[in-house]
Amino acid sequence: LPKNVGWIGLGIMGLPMARNLLKKMDDDTQFYVFDVIQESVDKFVQDGQGRVSACSSSKDVADKSDIIISMVPEGSHVRSVYLTENTGVLASNLDTKILIDCSTIDTGTSLAVRDAVATQHPSAKFYDSPVSGGAIGAEKATLTFMLGCAASDANMPLLHQLLSLMGGNIFPCGGPSLGLTAKLCNNYCSGLIAIAVSEAMNIGMASGMDPRVLANVFHTSTAQSSICDDWCPVPGLSPDAPASKGYKGGFRVQLMKKDFGLAVDTAERVGVGLALGKEGLRVYEETSVDPECKDLDSRVVYRHLGGREA
Ligand code: NAD
Repeated sequence: LPKNVGWIGLGIMGLPMARNLLKKMDDDTQFYVFDVIQESVDKFVQDGQGRVSACSSSKDVADKSDIIISMVPEGSHVRSVYLTENTGVLASNLDTKILIDCSTIDTGTSLAVRDAVATQHPSAKFYDSPVSGGAIGAEKATLTFMLGCAASDANMPLLHQLLSLMGGNIFPCGGPSLGLTAKLCNNYCSGLIAIAVSEAMNIGMASGMDPRVLANVFHTSTAQSSICDDWCPVPGLSPDAPASKGYKGGFRVQLMKKDFGLAVDTAERVGVGLALGKEGLRVYEETSVDPECKDLDSRVVYRHLGGREA
């Protein structure tokens, strides 16, 4: 593995992911990091005990590193990190360097950055590699990585070795931007399941059923899913779920709205009609601005849909 690792974006996901690399890579590996929030950088520099250096820009990170990983919120941030004149990653001499963007963004932005890398730095390689598993997966190094490349990609052994330090499952999804496609399809699905579980629980409870019994029925029947088993939207049913902790932690509903919207846009672009896409998006748009729900875990959609406490 390379000895100089660059990291851009040390937020809820980025910081614990980078901490796993720091813990697991050889002691002579150096880390070069940048975030627009200085406090996040300071935290990681402190962890590093001399192995982590704060950089002044994304370009500065790229200048000093052989491999650069980014984890920022949206497409606009990814553009800014890579394409900003003079201070972006592409302003550096990227000779043979490997760039991995783990942010969940639109495929168009990711392909535009990849094309810019291919044109301006033909020996460098850019990969989309979004993740699933949330902050807990990031901390416990159990993330799933969805890589935008073929299984036969020449860098696959290195990518696999590196990403395995942060996650248990690494899926090459076929080609550029298809990692993002996989991630958006996953969140479209899990977002709809959360709405479906919430509504089904509402039907059962309004009819007089104990939601614990209904959850057990789902668990052993055709409605079984990890949303009901581990992330149940009804408070008190899955002890470790955000719903049982006031919907704190987990995956913010604003992020679900973003990913769900990106999935709906993708469907339109590739000509796939959606029966539930527009309705699902409306529900998440409303939930993300509902004063009782915003900034909480996305399964708070249960509360927005009128769900009661168990
Ligand atoms: P976050 O807001 O906690 O962290 C993002 C970090 O990027 C922040 O520290 C921010 O200061 C930094 N940043 C923004 N613009 C920057 C720039 N131009 N240069 C340098 N740093 C910049 O977000 P997060 O929860 O860590 O999510 C990051 C990405 O991962 C998102 O695309 C999200 O959809 C995805 N994701 C999040 C989760 C989750 O559970 N939080 C799960 C899977 C995937």
